[in-house]
This record gives sequence, C-alpha cells and structure tokens, in this order.
Amino acid sequence: MIDQLLQSQTDTVLDCGHPKSTSKISTGYATDKDGKTLCYDCCAKNDKIWMDCGNHQVLYLVESKGNYQNTKYYEATNWPGTLRIHVSDIKRKFKFSPKGFPIDRITVYFTLNNRKWSGTVGNFSTGSCFVARPLKEKK
Ligand SMILES: [Zn+2]
Repeated sequence: MIDQLLQSQTDTVLDCGHPKSTSKISTGYATDKDGKTLCYDCCAKNDKIWMDCGNHQVLYLVESKGNYQNTKYYEATNWPGTLRIHVSDIKRKFKFSPKGFPIDRITVYFTLNNRKWSGTVGNFSTGSCFVARPLKEKK
C-alpha cells in the first residue's frame, strides 16, 4: 500500500512536462503564479526570465565555500536553490531605531545578465530571505 503510494507520487508528471525534482531539500515541485506545477530546474528558468523582465523576486542569502582555500562567498538563490547568483558586494550598516534599538541593515548586491540588483536582508544568516530589486540604471 505504502509502496504504491510512493510510486504514484514519483511517476507524477508536472505541468512543465518533467517528473518531480529530487534535491537535498525535498522531493517535490514548485508552483508558478498561475498555480502550474514546475520542476526545480524549470523553476530556476522561470525565475530568471521573471527577473530579466525587471520584476522583484524573493531570494535567499546563502553562504557557500569556494574550492580555493575554502574561501567563503555568498550566493543569492531561489527557493529550491536551482538558481544561484554570486553576491558581488555586501554592505552592512548599523543604526539605531527611534527607541534606541540597534538595527543591522544588510544590503546585498549582485549582477544578473548585466543588470545590477540589490536587496535588504533583515538578518545576516544563511537562509535569510530578501526581496531583490533591479537597481535603476545610472545615466
Ligand atoms: Zn520542468
């Protein structure tokens, strides 16, 4: 009974025409704005097209390790982690709220297809989500 259930789940073909994705995070799929199901690879392609049109996108800040001397770097990823963009710059600013609480404001910058993007992360930890916005072109 259980075996049959698992079988039918993995055999499911998604709206994008691919089977469900398996990744470190989970087996599953993503859904787009219209509620269509997508595998994680198509999700990355979709997210990229979406961003190429200059739309805001929710991304996650993750810490990665390079091959060379274990250098650490940061990446902005989409939810399944199939879209990975190298974070080129991180600016950190401390300020105080009107009530005197310290606020740690972190802005990340990256480039995608020659367009510069930025996003403000509320929390400097891996997995923090932020809304990426395209920067206005300087004239
Ligand atoms: Zn797909």
